[in-house]
Amino acid sequence: MRLVRYNGGRIGVLAKDGVVDVTPVVRVDPEEWPPVGMLRVIRHFDTLRPDIEAQVASAPALPLSQARLQAPIAWPNKVIAYPINYVDHATEMSVTSYANVAGFFLKASSSLIGPHEAIELPDLPGRSVHHECELAIIIGREGRDIAAADALDHVLGYACLLDITIRGKEERVMRKSYDTFTVLGPCITTADEVGDASDIRLALWVNDQPRQDARTRDLIVDIPNMIALASSAATLCPGDIIATGTPSGVGPIVDGDRVTIEIERVGRMSVPVRQGRRGRNFVFDPSLSRSSRQTP
Ligand code: MN
Repeated sequence: MRLVRYNGGRIGVLAKDGVVDVTPVVRVDPEEWPPVGMLRVIRHFDTLRPDIEAQVASAPALPLSQARLQAPIAWPNKVIAYPINYVDHATEMSVTSYANVAGFFLKASSSLIGPHEAIELPDLPGRSVHHECELAIIIGREGRDIAAADALDHVLGYACLLDITIRGKEERVMRKSYDTFTVLGPCITTADEVGDASDIRLALWVNDQPRQDARTRDLIVDIPNMIALASSAATLCPGDIIATGTPSGVGPIVDGDRVTIEIERVGRMSVPVRQGRRGRNFVFDPSLSRSSRQTP
């Protein structure tokens, strides 16, 4: 099953001929704040699934052209991300500290957007913003200290994820947490539909030029061990997102580009890149006055 959020917080299922609205079936109020309805759908998915399937079998579908897809999860408890998790990416970044040594970091949940939005480049003249093509794991069942052997029982499904990054030496969380810097979608494809995710292809194009092309078999820390490692520190909650790291081929994106990501059996989406006018600050531009005092 392919779950989506669309048209202002509605919950739907991607079917052959479009999107079937299941918002009433899963009892989500599209106007709710905070927008956590999908988290409850994920938490209760096994119970809700028969009713969702019945709706998909009987209700008409909205043509995809009339569905504005949003990030399938808007307010996760956390977005966990693994750094250097493919050896070839470590080589291109000239680093020798891999995810199995460094562990994970977090990205701001407010950086999430969906496939019908645009990546907004901050106004940071001279700074390079890169695309990173990643498989996202969507946690379905809460757990702490999950054993690698049990990890897949905690996975609801998978999605495509773009981990957009300002290159530099500043704090990584800040460089990766700008609004629009975590593109998630086009849907959550449930694990039963993806099947074995341990050797699937992920690829990325910028303006139809191939930039990244790899397989999950080349992950340094594999999917079960990423879940085990993260949950050794933090309770994983339904709807948590794990960005699994990017293979080699990262590179700059600029105003007017279109970034396309495709992951085998998971999905495909394209998003435009726009130059924004926000985002300058004294960390990235020391010529700006510091707010209260100079650094020591
Ligand atoms: Mn990344």
